[in-house]
Amino acid sequence: MITLKMGEVPALPDKFRCPICGDKLALEIDAWTSDYDGWKAEDSGVHVTCVSEPDITDDGFDDWLNGHYQMPYVDWLPVDQKVYDWLEDNYRFTETPSNNELGF
Ligand SMILES: [Zn+2]
Repeated sequence: MITLKMGEVPALPDKFRCPICGDKLALEIDAWTSDYDGWKAEDSGVHVTCVSEPDITDDGFDDWLNGHYQMPYVDWLPVDQKVYDWLEDNYRFTETPSNNELGF
C-alpha cells in the first residue's frame, strides 16, 4: 500500500489506456472518503481522460469530444471503475495540513 497526500495523484500504469484511441490516460482525483484503514479515493471522485484531449478553445475540441465521448457510460465508466479499483488496492491518502488551515 502506498500513501500519498490528498491532492497528489499517482502515475497510472501503462495497462490503463484510452478506450477510444489507445493513448495514455490522465488521472484526476477530487474526492476522498475515510475507510477503516485510512482515506481512499472516492469512486465518484476518480476521473480519467485521454491525454490527447485538446484545449477547450482548440478548433479540434468538438471533433475530439464527439469521437471520445459519444458513449461515455459505455466507453469511460468501465475505465473509471478499473482505475478506482486499482487505487483502492494500492493507495491510501493522508490529509494535508494546508487543507486544515484553509478550513476544508
Ligand atoms: Zn484517446
